[in-house]
Amino acid sequence: MKFDFFNKATLLHAVILTLRLTVGGIFIYSGFVKAIDIWGLEYKIGDYLNAFQWNRLMPFSGFFSAVLPIFEFVMGAMLLLGSFRRASVIFLLACMAFMLPLTAYIWIADPVSDCGCFGDALTISNGATFAKNIFVTIALLFLLRYNKRLRSIYGPAVQWLTAVIPSLFIIIVAGYGNYVQPMLDFRPYPIGTKIATENNGSTDTEFLFTYTKNGEQRDFTADNLPDTSWTFVDRHPIPDTQTPASATDTPQNPIAIFDGNQPTDDIIPTQGETLLLLIPDIAEINALTNFSLNDLNDLSTAKGIAMICLTSSSDNDIRQWRELSMSGYPVYKMDDSQLKSVARGNPAIVYIKDGTIRYKSTFDTFFNRMEEQIENNQLNLQPLESDNSIGHDILISLTTMLLIAMTALFLINRTHLLIKFGLRQRKNQNKSGNFAENLKISKTLNNFKMRKNIVAGNWKMNTTLQEGVKLATEVNEALKNRNANCDVVIGVPFTHLASVKAVINENLGLAAENCADKAKGAYTGEVSASMVASTGATYVILGHSERRQYYHETSEILKEKTELALANGLTPIFCIGEVLEERENGTYFDVVKKQVEEALFSLSAEDFGKIVLAYEPVWAIGTGKTATADQAEEIHAFIRKTIADKYGAEVAENTSILYGGSCKPSNAKEIFSKPNVDGGLIGGAALEAESFMGIVDAF
Ligand code: PEP
Repeated sequence: MKFDFFNKATLLHAVILTLRLTVGGIFIYSGFVKAIDIWGLEYKIGDYLNAFQWNRLMPFSGFFSAVLPIFEFVMGAMLLLGSFRRASVIFLLACMAFMLPLTAYIWIADPVSDCGCFGDALTISNGATFAKNIFVTIALLFLLRYNKRLRSIYGPAVQWLTAVIPSLFIIIVAGYGNYVQPMLDFRPYPIGTKIATENNGSTDTEFLFTYTKNGEQRDFTADNLPDTSWTFVDRHPIPDTQTPASATDTPQNPIAIFDGNQPTDDIIPTQGETLLLLIPDIAEINALTNFSLNDLNDLSTAKGIAMICLTSSSDNDIRQWRELSMSGYPVYKMDDSQLKSVARGNPAIVYIKDGTIRYKSTFDTFFNRMEEQIENNQLNLQPLESDNSIGHDILISLTTMLLIAMTALFLINRTHLLIKFGLRQRKNQNKSGNFAENLKISKTLNNFKMRKNIVAGNWKMNTTLQEGVKLATEVNEALKNRNANCDVVIGVPFTHLASVKAVINENLGLAAENCADKAKGAYTGEVSASMVASTGATYVILGHSERRQYYHETSEILKEKTELALANGLTPIFCIGEVLEERENGTYFDVVKKQVEEALFSLSAEDFGKIVLAYEPVWAIGTGKTATADQAEEIHAFIRKTIADKYGAEVAENTSILYGGSCKPSNAKEIFSKPNVDGGLIGGAALEAESFMGIVDAF
């Protein structure tokens, strides 16, 4: 197969495919990294609601954080696969209608420093986010117009499964992140991070504390901390005093712990086992959890394992909670964002061994896991370390299952379509009589064929009057210089008819591209069949798929137009043809038959005999895809048989049936060689005299 890259349709397909892949990929990635860390997304939505002072929506932040990533992931997958080609684009555009102004505002006003588009996996500036959203919106608008021009990977019957399977995948990913910990940890404290300070009581390492206020960021020493209007950002060692890194490759990221308002070291032992209990919002902890925490503390103390609570709640909340919970473990404070980035959950539990993070989980999941041990007064924390790889393993298995399921669905769907298509084909053949026989008769009759071969151009809404007159003159000249074996017609816009007529000879036919379904009167903007005839045109193109699709011309309307055209002495070039879906599901015989029956079969045999038919598969018009010569012959023979059944063999044999759809000089000869193909209706290739003549020469 020759790949004509510069062909317009091929280019359009390449652009659609590229946009599906990039925009679909962006949504899949953005949905995935958000879903993996549902807690992080909820915190980020909380930041937004705070910044906009929409605190009344705060109770819905959990709901938004669950729905948004699933929506993005599933819609991204559908866009990428070409499923529900219009609906997926419309839904994503609706999402962008909200996101685009939001990110424009965030870029200008900077209420949150990181938009959170890609969770913690990828931080891009607010300006870059806005630029990305402009690109995505423009791409989606393009796809709104053209996405249907490129086929879906999956057939219509199973496209709902291309939404369901990715939904299941992403729900499991999100659920695991919510109830255990994110399957992938993009934050600064992954398993293996050493968070206990190395100085271990020595004063060798001194720290600088970074705080921010009104966009300003400053470092402070421990004895000179700012007032509470500043927000804590980070703590890092003063370079000269930093203890050399340990011999192991363990990443170091000490956390800043405060006793009251004073930074304090040596809270987390660098040796032995420790349980850190992280509670971002202490007021949210219920009585049942408190009982479990106290049980755990009693047991861990008895086993010599320190349990330390770290929270970012207010002093007041901490005091009230201590009174209610009667907790026996120490409580220290931490900066809210640092606390939340160590582990997700409220509460979350972090198992530390020798100052290094070995395991983390939401408290509920940890407690369920340990319940049996706790009931038996045991606390063996070591095996928890192997739990950390479970999330990762599940993610790999899930991704593999997702890919297998999507591939299997594709294969089953294609096989099913092939079988169904084959069966339908056989049924249709039975319906229309024996094709082989039909073709044989047609071939014999073709030798004595009375009907005309015609090559007709359809300029559509192209060329100005001056350009049109020039083109018509060129065609006219070219025709004069050859002995064409067919009738040649040019179909031009209404505005050009009279002027074109003035520059062409009798042997070049002239067609209008449409006419009104009313004879005359108050129909502003319409052009009647008699007006067309008065310009000297003798043909009119009716029922073109673009008029059916964009101007909703039904068979009833086309019936009126045809009768008026005939009444005014015009020869209708009547277009019929199926869309891609009808071709694929094998209903195209029925579709084409219905189009002819509804609009034309009320005509008398005499009038029907004046009609020229043009079979134009909609999927081949302007797309670069041509029906094969055999496909064209098959349906042309069927149309002729349909006419014969209604009007008899003579009328059928005298009716010219043209083929239209990406016909060009290079393929015309083969298509026109078929006995039931009596020429072509030519769109794109009719806009240049040379290529149009190349098609005329095919006869
Ligand atoms: C048409 O519009 O009638 C047509 C056949 O167009 P093209 O040749 O460009 O596919």
